[in-house]
Amino acid sequence: MIIAEWKPIAEVVARLKGHRKILVAGCATCVAECAAGGEREVESLAPLLRMALAQQGCAAEVVTATLERQCEPEFIETLFPKMEGVDAVVSIACGIGIQTLGDRFDPVPVYPGVNTTSLAVREQPGVWAVRCEACGNCVLGETFGLCPVARCAKSLLNGPCGGTRENGKCEVNPDVDCIWLKIYERAMARGKLEALLGVQPTRNWSNSRHGGQKVMIREDLRA
Ligand code: SF4
Ligand code: SF4
Repeated sequence: MIIAEWKPIAEVVARLKGHRKILVAGCATCVAECAAGGEREVESLAPLLRMALAQQGCAAEVVTATLERQCEPEFIETLFPKMEGVDAVVSIACGIGIQTLGDRFDPVPVYPGVNTTSLAVREQPGVWAVRCEACGNCVLGETFGLCPVARCAKSLLNGPCGGTRENGKCEVNPDVDCIWLKIYERAMARGKLEALLGVQPTRNWSNSRHGGQKVMIREDLRA
């Protein structure tokens, strides 16, 4: 899922001065799962914003709404009744939801209430670990289902780097497992170590973030 975390309240409030009616909009999907942007968080953030704005002499009305998904236009339509008189929105959806909302309600500004961090899995309550950087050219088939792009500090496609600690942790971050050691261990456990003997060629990263905005088109699904 996509994970995000709250921005500092002061940073959000700094954007809201001068607005008269503010909608705090949540999303009941990924950001709700990571306890950053669901209904509960919307109802926690709204009074904090009211208080912080009042302390600065701004008597803005703060209303709330949580959509099933902010990244899908059809769900956004359900927000229209709530938009009456709203002259600014704080969205605590992921960056995709914030932009989709912003496009739909332009020229009403939609400000981010969260920092979207990555694609992660919940390892245990309160701990989310990044598993994918959406690199556009998945190598999980060659790396036994463990992602070196997201989970190696150097995104090495031929690893390990040689700095793996004796306890199996990454040389860059002692709290994190060296993912290349994990890849080797999994290959060995499956009796397929020889699959790692080849050298991955130099990678073309243009399918990743380095090639400008990515757009995926499925002709069979187009209207
Ligand atoms: S190789 Fe790329 S697409 Fe596959 S899991 Fe890693 S970052 Fe995601
Ligand atoms: S120790 Fe392992 S995870 Fe860390 S940078 Fe080197 S290869 Fe990557």
